[in-house]
Amino acid sequence: DRNAGSLTGLNDGSTASDSKNLKVKLVLLGDSGVGKSCIVLRFVRGQFDPTSKVTVGASFLSQTIALPDSTTVKFEIWDTAGQERYAALAPLYYRGAAVAVVAYDITSSESFSKAKYWVKELQKHGSPDIVMALVGNKADLHENRVVSVEDAVEYAEKNGMFFIETSAKTADNINQLFEEIAKRLPRPSVVSV
Ligand code: GDP
Repeated sequence: DRNAGSLTGLNDGSTASDSKNLKVKLVLLGDSGVGKSCIVLRFVRGQFDPTSKVTVGASFLSQTIALPDSTTVKFEIWDTAGQERYAALAPLYYRGAAVAVVAYDITSSESFSKAKYWVKELQKHGSPDIVMALVGNKADLHENRVVSVEDAVEYAEKNGMFFIETSAKTADNINQLFEEIAKRLPRPSVVSV
């Protein structure tokens, strides 16, 4: 098994493994408190557990999904572990990322501005063919909404991003987020040996 115990392919290419089984590095970006960790924990563990933070440091959680065409996609999800408080993230964070999920909180215009900042950072430092998703989280708090769907859609379209609103709390659109990302991944045309 050529990939056993290694991260082969994560550092040099966007998608690794063979044509039916993709392995991708996904980085999470967004203001502190928008719900990045909760989105991941909802996706990976099926739970909403605000007290359980993703491990600090260079580790990540992974989750595999199967698409209708029987392709499997293994997401290796990198959380900022609080480093989003600093102006810049280490280049290591972006390196080899095939997917970036930029999240904001629909009840915070400041978090939407911050999302735009991270998109600019990605455009500077990320891979040119990175798949980018704009995620408006905390959709369950729609009564306190300050960021309109229209503004988010317009921004996403301008920047070649896929847009979705989610709720880590109710699980709304969490699986859909990752399925839509998986569909947008470039498929390797050659089976590696
Ligand atoms: P991070 O700093 O971006 O990783 O944010 P966290 O995942 O730690 O979440 C920050 C806070 O937002 C926690 O108190 C969560 O309970 C809350 N939260 C996260 N997602 C949601 C959501 O979809 N809806 C609501 N109502 N609260 C959420």
